[in-house]
Amino acid sequence: MMTAKQYEESLKKLNLVAYMFGKRLENIVEDPIIRPSMNAVAKTYELAHQSKYKDIMTATSHITGKRINRFTHIHQNIDDLVKKSKMGRLLGSLTGCCFQRCVGMDALNASSIVTFNIDDKHGTEYYKRFLKYLEYVQENDLTCNGAMTDPKGDRSLPPNKQPDPDHFLHVVEEKKDGIIVRGAKAHQTGAVNSHEIIVMPTMAMKKEDEDYAISFAIPSDTKGVNYIIGRQSCDARKLDSKSMDQGNIFFGGHEALIIFDDVFVPWDRVFMYKEYTFAAQIVEKFAAYHRQSYACKTGVGDVLIGASQTIAEYNNTHKASHIRDKIIEMSHLNETLYCGCIACASEGHKEPSGTYCVNTLLANVHKQNITRFPYEISRLAQDIAGGLMVTMPSEKDFKSPDTSKWLEKYFKGNPNISTENRMRILRLIENITLGSAAVGYLTESMHGAGSPQAQRIMISRSIDLEERKKVAKKLCGID
Ligand code: SF4
Ligand code: FE
Repeated sequence: MMTAKQYEESLKKLNLVAYMFGKRLENIVEDPIIRPSMNAVAKTYELAHQSKYKDIMTATSHITGKRINRFTHIHQNIDDLVKKSKMGRLLGSLTGCCFQRCVGMDALNASSIVTFNIDDKHGTEYYKRFLKYLEYVQENDLTCNGAMTDPKGDRSLPPNKQPDPDHFLHVVEEKKDGIIVRGAKAHQTGAVNSHEIIVMPTMAMKKEDEDYAISFAIPSDTKGVNYIIGRQSCDARKLDSKSMDQGNIFFGGHEALIIFDDVFVPWDRVFMYKEYTFAAQIVEKFAAYHRQSYACKTGVGDVLIGASQTIAEYNNTHKASHIRDKIIEMSHLNETLYCGCIACASEGHKEPSGTYCVNTLLANVHKQNITRFPYEISRLAQDIAGGLMVTMPSEKDFKSPDTSKWLEKYFKGNPNISTENRMRILRLIENITLGSAAVGYLTESMHGAGSPQAQRIMISRSIDLEERKKVAKKLCGID
């Protein structure tokens, strides 16, 4: 397994073509806006080497028998699934943000199921190829970027009817040694912190869309792959490195649009090729796993609850019964989220490939809660914090000889607490509820791993209404 330092070094060796603010990035790892997101992924490497986290952060590879980072593991039993949920909460609670590595783990696990099933029906050899690839990922402890979401263009049209055929990623040329693909994947969490990209189709497809029903894996710096980093709310605050205005001075996340500008993929890295009837299956499996992965939000919720209790103490409001009750409400909501990610793991099942998969209904219920509760937890945090969270001056004003004496004096709360610490914790709450970490904690909770309606469709498909009707009718004597 790589150490955090080795991970950082490995990223420096990549030759990524990435753009931000209209310029190509020269030194991605050291860029002040990207760096906090790299730190968050590095935490997944660091913890794997700490004995107290060994059980949660590592696993035994089912192909080599070696100890590997859990982020590269194929779940072999219920215990693996439960530990995956616990790992998400742990990392969220230590970074206070999105640590980006789950998408790769979820893509690997979904691929392990679907490549096996395609082979079973079509006599192909995708599973063999996949296992070879998996061994490479595990041996080198790589971070993979699971890439599913196409830009989708006109939402009312299928891929083959789009005015621009590249709005869904597709094959444009077939060669003896591989294929050429073109298109893009949007909202890609942690894109430039990844060694590999695993591409999957974005929705169910028909025969006419078969050129779009493709899945493959390529190194992240493959020729023709371009990244354009997304802006986040308050991202420019990261330009003043470790400024308290950042709120979270160590960690963050990033997202990017990945463009595949006629990229070559060798056959041994292709895991689905025009088997369009399996596009829906890979979407459903990846989505179920990734909806479980939103265990991360309970960890970020832990940070926000801790920050809310802290500011209450710094304001000296913590003994008021309504403040205490708000902290209880936040905890109730956060632990309810935790119940969902543990439940869908505990009710998991074995797929024909041997991979364990979460319970689809419960994973979707969990993610549906994730689209709501972090907003309510954030509302309560802002209620407890008070308006100063959004009106206080910058760190530079706190440090300026002209103004510091007034800010020290007028922004003092609890006399035993420094004004600076009061400002710091307010900035952290701002960061999570409407700053750069709100990208992950709120809007990504809404749309990541599928927007709310996608879960409601899965919930409606998973519940047996006839059975429920039968029981109700029987109990009141209806024949
Ligand atoms: Fe993982 Fe959560 Fe980030 Fe998604 S939002 S990549 S599940 S940490
Ligand atoms: Fe996500």
